[in-house]
Amino acid sequence: MKIKFLGGAEEVGRLGIKITEGNTRLMVDYGIIPDKPPEFPLPPEYVDGIFLTHSHLDHCGNLPVYYQNFSAEFFATLMTANSVRPMLNDSIKVASLEGYPQPFSKDDISLLYNSFRNTKYGERYQIKDLTVTPYSAGHIPGSTMWKFENSSSTLVTGDLYVRDTNLLNGAVPVKADTLIMESTYAGSEHEERSAVIKRLRSRIKEVVESGGKVILPSFAMGRTQELIMILESLNLSISVDGMGNLLSEIYVGTPGFLRSQNDFRKALGRTNKIRGAHSREMALQDSDVIITTSGMMDGGPVLGYVEQLLEDDKSAIFLTGYQVENTNGRSLIENGTLKIAGISVKPKTRVEFFDLSAHAGHSDLVDFVKKVDPQRVILCHGESREELLPDLSQYEVILPVNGREFEF
Ligand SMILES: [Zn+2]
Ligand SMILES: [Zn+2]
Repeated sequence: MKIKFLGGAEEVGRLGIKITEGNTRLMVDYGIIPDKPPEFPLPPEYVDGIFLTHSHLDHCGNLPVYYQNFSAEFFATLMTANSVRPMLNDSIKVASLEGYPQPFSKDDISLLYNSFRNTKYGERYQIKDLTVTPYSAGHIPGSTMWKFENSSSTLVTGDLYVRDTNLLNGAVPVKADTLIMESTYAGSEHEERSAVIKRLRSRIKEVVESGGKVILPSFAMGRTQELIMILESLNLSISVDGMGNLLSEIYVGTPGFLRSQNDFRKALGRTNKIRGAHSREMALQDSDVIITTSGMMDGGPVLGYVEQLLEDDKSAIFLTGYQVENTNGRSLIENGTLKIAGISVKPKTRVEFFDLSAHAGHSDLVDFVKKVDPQRVILCHGESREELLPDLSQYEVILPVNGREFEF
């Protein structure tokens, strides 16, 4: 087997893994680093099939570029396929707003969907000489680990989360000879999720009881919906703004991927969906909690709300997602400032961070490897992969670099 990373080997983002086994060529994911400006993977190479792990842009953001030059069947779960389209359309919109060149058009997105092959967890598919089985990766709804098999087997995790959340069940390990695993949190552990949730709920109650509002900047996909579930029983007035509303509709319309479709539908029914400037003003008057994009506060409706609450020391901004360097969210946590329309401001609102990561922490990664029980482990999608080496000393561990093909 030959493996070449077109991106995402020693970094978090722009993952693209080309796998060659005999005369079967595959690619798992083909994403970007959604920075300003975005960073792209190496140019595409012809393959027989493309296997997408999930709909975050760092995994899918460059897929239409492949179809400008080549064709290949596009394998994904229905939830992933349904969620990818708005993400790709939105990335075209963001690029034109920010003035960055966009490498693909809506026509290229259509070519991708013309090649779509719907796959279901646990069912087997054939691509030339290889049998392929998708399994849930527990990261966001629809996220997939792909297992490729002939005389030996390879499991590719994509982004991985192994514990149950309010929205999803964690990934279950699958035996394989070779494991290609993400390692975003190599070297760091998360605080126990149930403790984080308990603290988040009680801090929200405190703020609301003291007469303030809580802004929850949130990723549209997965996090918005998990927060809706977490806050459901608090009996507060909750508004949701931004692309999270569209993704929630997709989640409701694509059954079979959530822990409980019914519970989510009920919780969603108790939220107020915000559309347009007037309903934003109403939300600021009437809501206790506003869940809104973008999750790192670099754009989207969240900045409009923060602008209105700059002088309000009773209100709070609670961040629950990973904040990349050089984003407003990171700057707010580290020094209490952020930029709105290019001007630096220091809100009087309280700011706190709650770690609700959807990536496995260090010990969970090690534990996952032990249960997959492979001969070799290939670590990718991480900036501190070597932190895992001492705990994986009984395995052959490969730390690939972008662009250099290797064989075993
Ligand atoms: Zn992801
Ligand atoms: Zn990722």
